[in-house]
Amino acid sequence: MATGEFALIDELRRGLGQVEDDAAVIVGIGDDAAVLDCGGRRLVACTDTLVAGRHFFAELGADDLAWKALAVNLSDLAAMGAEPRWALLNLALPAGMATPAWRADFMRGWQELALPFNLRLVGGDTVACDGPLTVTVTALGLLAGDALLRSGAQVGDDLYVTGTLGDAALALELAFAERAGEAVEDLPGAATLEQCRRRPTPRVAFGQAAQRLGARCAQDVSDGFLADLHHILQASGVGARIDGDAIPLSPVLAGWVGDDWQRLLRTALTGGDDYELILAAPPALAVQLQTAAQQTQTPLQRVGSVLPAAAGLQLFWQGRRQDLPEHLGHQHVI
Ligand code: ADP
Ligand code: MG
Repeated sequence: MATGEFALIDELRRGLGQVEDDAAVIVGIGDDAAVLDCGGRRLVACTDTLVAGRHFFAELGADDLAWKALAVNLSDLAAMGAEPRWALLNLALPAGMATPAWRADFMRGWQELALPFNLRLVGGDTVACDGPLTVTVTALGLLAGDALLRSGAQVGDDLYVTGTLGDAALALELAFAERAGEAVEDLPGAATLEQCRRRPTPRVAFGQAAQRLGARCAQDVSDGFLADLHHILQASGVGARIDGDAIPLSPVLAGWVGDDWQRLLRTALTGGDDYELILAAPPALAVQLQTAAQQTQTPLQRVGSVLPAAAGLQLFWQGRRQDLPEHLGHQHVI
């Protein structure tokens, strides 16, 4: 019988992931990454898999694929406030895939993201397969002090989002429409949306700055803003009020959404693949956070506040409370 991704993860956590008697595990299953105490230093570890046909179109260039496979992991490290240091790379390659040109492109795309962080590839695994091309990256980072946890939000905190939301989701919608042979409206700036989908910017420097400033809570947006916010609310035992009008949109997306609530919902609020950070922080940190955002060239927008759990998740737009959609974001069916 099919089950949800999160039900399965919970089953694994209960069956195999009990770490209460292991003092070295500071954070286990359930956050963006694990945090492990290694004799006083904190190692932060996460892993993510991209499967052709599911996470990317099979014809995606190897340079963009490498960038994205690494970026989605660096985004998880950023959501903990960690400094990226090392990575492992697992490749499951269909026959004929890894031509010299493909390999050169892959390495170039990887280095374009990795080099500025001085991140080193220290291992991995390479296999031939009959199934779709599958790329798994494990990223390792270091952390001084406490991680930004999903469970760290407190009533009265401000909620923030970095960058803009929904660009990748609209790019995907347009790509699907084009593939289905539908007439796709000519959207000025559509190329910038596609760039966001192929090459997300993990908010590494800002995540580290927020952690140093004492923000307590962050998570990156991979499954959809509302879905990932919901994870924070569940883990922290709180509710929230979100101002839909404050959700940061790129000019291209804002023009396309216009006054259409459904368009806003299915892109910026539930679309996913954004790899921006949701942050909760006490109002006293507001000025310092904005300064850190400027210093790291990271757009930062306050989008709401944390309420007691009984308030639930309240979504406002154009002065009215809106119903929550049935699906807050993406979840794999297993
Ligand atoms: P993210 O979107 O931040 O990568 P996920 O939603 O994929 O996080 O996973 C949620 C949590 O469950 C993470 O802590 C992750 O490490 C853990 N997790 C996911 N799949 C497994 C698995 N197969 N075994 C153990 N832990 C898992
Ligand atoms: Mg994450």
